[in-house]
Amino acid sequence: MRKILLALSSLVLLAALPIASNQASVSPSRYRFFLEAKSRSDLRKLSGWLNRQSFDVAGVNLRRGTIEVLTDEAGVNFLRSKGMKGRLVTVPVVGGKSTRLSGLDARYLDPARVTKRLDDLHARFPNVTRIIEIGRSLKNLPIYGMIVSTTLDTNDPKFHEKPTVLVDGMHHAREIMTPEIVLDIGETVLASAARVKRARSVLEGMNLVLVPMLNVDGNTLVWNEDNMWRKNARGDGGGSVFGVDINRNYAYRWNGCNGSSNSRGAQDYHGAGPASEPETKALMGVAEKVRPMASLSYHSYSELVLYPYGCDGDVTGENALLEKLGKEMAGMLPEDSGGGHYTPGTPWQILYAVDGDSMGYMFATYGAASYTFEVNQDFQPSYDLREPTLKKHRVAWAYFFDQIRTRLATIHVTDAAGRPVPDAELDIVQIQHTKGERAFRTNLAGNYFKVLLPGKYTVRVREKDGSSTAVDFVMGDHPENVTVATKTFRRRR
Ligand SMILES: [Zn+2]
Repeated sequence: MRKILLALSSLVLLAALPIASNQASVSPSRYRFFLEAKSRSDLRKLSGWLNRQSFDVAGVNLRRGTIEVLTDEAGVNFLRSKGMKGRLVTVPVVGGKSTRLSGLDARYLDPARVTKRLDDLHARFPNVTRIIEIGRSLKNLPIYGMIVSTTLDTNDPKFHEKPTVLVDGMHHAREIMTPEIVLDIGETVLASAARVKRARSVLEGMNLVLVPMLNVDGNTLVWNEDNMWRKNARGDGGGSVFGVDINRNYAYRWNGCNGSSNSRGAQDYHGAGPASEPETKALMGVAEKVRPMASLSYHSYSELVLYPYGCDGDVTGENALLEKLGKEMAGMLPEDSGGGHYTPGTPWQILYAVDGDSMGYMFATYGAASYTFEVNQDFQPSYDLREPTLKKHRVAWAYFFDQIRTRLATIHVTDAAGRPVPDAELDIVQIQHTKGERAFRTNLAGNYFKVLLPGKYTVRVREKDGSSTAVDFVMGDHPENVTVATKTFRRRR
């Protein structure tokens, strides 16, 4: 109790201090500046401007019309000099070398607890789960993932007879609710598969690849040094850590549209080159193995459902599908305040331009139906919000899994002898690729899985001699299988 009182009184003291003071005795503190915007378009303009000025835009509250900026005294003064108004909250930086933070609820996850949850889950369901190490962080910590499926070997063509959904959490270290959601997807699917037919069909009908905590180094910093750390632990080799924003480091439109920063100190620093960071490489590596037909990425905060692309004005050639499912999922996700529902859109429509992000990469490289969820209205909300957050997201992802399996086209490419052809390049004539996307490719079992709205389609496979073989098909409201028999391919031995 005494501790709490002390902490409270120091908070009050800090808040009462004049901002421009030079009181060196005060421990380093941050300001949460909730800037007010007059309208949705003002908010969009302001967040874009703040981002370009390299402010740390923590999140937005579209209901209230506010943007939270995390900044220091100089930043507050600068924003005020530009005439900006809003609520200012002072927060001491919690953390310090070798002391476990007291400011974070200790029940939230760290890398060791993620490992434990995966181990426990595997122990309960050994036949339909497999723990995989997808890579190592800069500090050589293992980054774990889990395959949840009746087929567990990614080198076995059987795995590739089913579509794969890739789900990740915690690109950004301070977004502490996100690994909880990714783990909950596995736990919920597995626990209900035993008794609910629909859940069992998820397990039998597709592969789930879960990566709960991608940024294990950053999370270690969050627990031990700075609870508002966002990036990875990239340093200059001499003890100074600046960090790279691993969600601006992907090899699609890296540094492509002023959607990230060249400056090491910026919260959205994109790194020295595309995929320069081991964490980014780890997710790209597992994606190349499993060829996701859908990808869900959990972030916080702002209560949004985002779909590609991130660059100003860019939408994908599949916007009708992405927008439809995005809107439907947003409508299933009530805000924590109870005031309304999540807001769907592309990053540039709602917030600001983004480049080198995982969502754009997964779409442009695999044609995966890709979404980013910005959950809650705080990076580190009360632990009491965990259960309601998991519960509401169960509704959205379960709906998504249903939809993508219902709207699934399985395109199977065979050689002249009827054997499957891996890595055949194909396109679907009705889907426009105008933003440098890769051609669709078949997987190890000769399949390409695609989520499609109802309609008439033509799939075209590029033959070895430069000609192409095309097959027409119609999508209704149920899955379709399409076989393309090529003439010039011969199965590799
Ligand atoms: Zn994030």
